[in-house]
Amino acid sequence: MFRHAIPIGRIFGISVDLDYSWFLIVGLLAWMLAVSYYPYEFGAGTTGEYWAMGLVTALMLFASVLIHEIGHSIVAQGYGLQVPRITLFLFGGVSQIAAEPPSAGAEFWIAVVGPLVSFALAAFFWEIEPLFSGAPAWFAVAKYLALLNLILAIFNLIPGFPLDGGRVLRAIVWRATGAYRRATAAAAVTGRFFGFVLIVWGVWEVFLGRFIGGLWIAFIGWYLESAAGAQLQLESAKALVGEHRVADAMRRDFPRIPGETTLQDLVEHFVLSGSSRYFVVDAGSGDEGLITIETIRTVQREAWPTTTAGQVMIPVAKLDTTTPETALWTALEKMGRDGVNQLPVVAGQQIVGVLSREDTFHYLRVLESFASGRMSPGATTNRGASLGFPAVKGHTHLP
Ligand SMILES: [Zn+2]
Repeated sequence: MFRHAIPIGRIFGISVDLDYSWFLIVGLLAWMLAVSYYPYEFGAGTTGEYWAMGLVTALMLFASVLIHEIGHSIVAQGYGLQVPRITLFLFGGVSQIAAEPPSAGAEFWIAVVGPLVSFALAAFFWEIEPLFSGAPAWFAVAKYLALLNLILAIFNLIPGFPLDGGRVLRAIVWRATGAYRRATAAAAVTGRFFGFVLIVWGVWEVFLGRFIGGLWIAFIGWYLESAAGAQLQLESAKALVGEHRVADAMRRDFPRIPGETTLQDLVEHFVLSGSSRYFVVDAGSGDEGLITIETIRTVQREAWPTTTAGQVMIPVAKLDTTTPETALWTALEKMGRDGVNQLPVVAGQQIVGVLSREDTFHYLRVLESFASGRMSPGATTNRGASLGFPAVKGHTHLP
């Protein structure tokens, strides 16, 4: 999800990362506060003071977001869930929780603790204001942070996925119906609805001349709507995959080459014919491995005639693999998380199949055409393409 993030430390065993977009939003926020909000709200300061106030406010706001996310993460850890990372980015923060909540109760408490922490932070900044009665500039900063955290708490309680309020709604529907998927769909639909409401509100604000504020609201609406929409697609992909196993979708007639094949021959006779992006290499005496176009690219061209596939293959023991009995959805999650195009399917030490993205798409399209009753083989809806690979789950928190 965040390809350009910088780790800045660890807390409770969780890596805290800053996405590149975080620097942009902190700079924008500090600038907006320094040139428009604080000169208007406070009035008695210097330009330098306004900038200091703006920067401190922006940094304290993200400290509040981080504490909010830590709240989610600690409760998730309490339910035995792994939380490898918290990332701060343009729209706030994301706690990367490695698995779905085990129960409706877990979902409820993991979600609701976030807004509760923001309410507590609002109360904290409110309570410490008098400490700054002798320093009106910092009094204004504390006052504004109390207001910001209150808005964050209330905003995140909007019952729309992926906001915390949407997860609370999912927990309640899940508990009432016992149906996790239906509960997720309900929360995602309300998420899309509130996303649209925000977009309309934002556009209206722009019409009223509040350009920056309106644009930001519409932007958040768009983000919320697309995140909720993606969750709905994910749920429909999950429903489609259902209980299917890797063995159902894997390719059994995968390309296999002898280990002594030179890279030159491999490229000329196999790769250029475009038959496949990967090849299983039989290196003899039961040794097998995988060679992909990416592996070939790591070898100097002039060495291709003298380098064999067996010499550069990645042996089974070092590969990301799966097994025939593994749930297809679990294998898809793994491919999405590890960013790989194919997974060799291993039984014992032998490669018995390969599960690739292309084959899985094809399999899902066939499943879908069965599910929709349309049997025409040419019916390539783009749903296949839009059946995005599950990658990272997480609590998205919007400032
Ligand atoms: Zn949250």
